[in-house]
Amino acid sequence: MTANLRTSRSPAVDPMEPPRIAVIGAGVAGAACAAGLLRAGFDVTVFDKSRGVGGRMAARRAPWADADGTPHVAEFDHGCPQFRVTRPRFRTVVDRAATLGCVTRWRQHVYAAFPAPQVRDVVVPTPNMPAFCRHLLSGTPLMLGRAVTGLLRCADGWYLQRAGDDAGITEDGGSEGPFEQVLLAIPPAQAATLLSGRHDDWAAALSAVRMSPCWTLMAVTEELDWPWDAAEPERGVLARIGRHDRKPGRTEAGSGAPSAAAQWVAHATPAWSLAHLEDDPVLITATLRAALGRLLTGGPEPRWHHTSVHRWRYAQLAQPVAGGFDCWWDAGFGLGVCGDSFGDGSVEAAWCSGDELADAVAASFDAAPAPDPTAKPELEPGVADPVH
Ligand SMILES: Cc1cc2nc3c(=O)[nH]c(=O)nc-3n(C[C@H](O)[C@H](O)[C@H](O)COP(=O)(O)OP(=O)(O)OC[C@H]3O[C@@H](n4cnc5c(N)ncnc54)[C@H](O)[C@@H]3O)c2cc1C
Repeated sequence: MTANLRTSRSPAVDPMEPPRIAVIGAGVAGAACAAGLLRAGFDVTVFDKSRGVGGRMAARRAPWADADGTPHVAEFDHGCPQFRVTRPRFRTVVDRAATLGCVTRWRQHVYAAFPAPQVRDVVVPTPNMPAFCRHLLSGTPLMLGRAVTGLLRCADGWYLQRAGDDAGITEDGGSEGPFEQVLLAIPPAQAATLLSGRHDDWAAALSAVRMSPCWTLMAVTEELDWPWDAAEPERGVLARIGRHDRKPGRTEAGSGAPSAAAQWVAHATPAWSLAHLEDDPVLITATLRAALGRLLTGGPEPRWHHTSVHRWRYAQLAQPVAGGFDCWWDAGFGLGVCGDSFGDGSVEAAWCSGDELADAVAASFDAAPAPDPTAKPELEPGVADPVH
């Protein structure tokens, strides 16, 4: 279900041109939305503040040396480690990605004290988590390293402001635009900031969404006799441990000989992460490393070759967007919002939300009355609308 408001096309737009749309966010929601719009014939550009795509489906490289001093490079999926597929439309997309070698299914052996150890069927992109978004975004123009800090509505469309831009549109192209539509596929707190003063009711609703943080430990140890692929400890500071190098399709990144070492990613519990959100990463590393060591050996700490931590300030959904919508779309205003917070906070929910928003945008153009080419814009091109 989509919150679909009005439908019209700006009179300033050439009706012969495909609508020009900006998607902000190259996570799985933005990737799904952009892919759907591209298929429907829209002129889409995706902007992301990071240097790569994937958002919370992230991977990070870390150099380390083994006992002989031989250098290696590990690559950790330090955000979302895997996902599940339940909905038919998402399954079709994942199946296609699997035929192209971008994802694979994995029967994961998980140790859980309660109710019991189990085998879980999950999906893992290969060779790393961002590969799925790279696949979805193939063919879509991407502007990476572009943090959007403001939205400016002018007579000829929307402009995206970037860090350092002043309130206006600079001659040197400091702002991007114009776009007929802007679709936000970013976490709720960031979306609320951009929507404030533009769509205040949406900004208020997104501000009420709660996300849990997550401190994540990445580690390389000596080879250990640990029979599981993952574990979910019942007590303590760690919520989830994954043996990273047992995931399918993972090979050591960069140069270096194969090593007799084990790679781990461990996620702290939401409560512990929140309580220690602003703590020194050195202390966080020491605490999480000790906790992981105890869980892996039950006794003395293993030999560590590498440890580092990453703080996810907005990791997983604690309370979704109210109202039960899959996304929001205001056609008359040319603004939309999607993301995992419209569902259960999963990769699947994020994909479905982005896909739904693409459908809603396309449907509103199908339904739009033919534009009146003689109509005059209310504002001069490049002049900001003082209200929105
Ligand atoms: C530690 C961890 C474990 C998880 N485990 C699981 C799991 O087991 N299974 C599962 O299904 N899900 C899991 N998740 C959740 C899953 O990763 C998310 O649901 C999903 O990736 C969200 O996708 P998204 O596109 O909605 O948002 P994101 O992935 O957050 O993408 C948003 C993008 O917007 C960009 N952005 C933000 N602000 C701006 C701006 N102002 N300008 C430009 N770009 C901007 C960001 O750089 C990012 O790339 C986990 C997440 C984390 C962090």
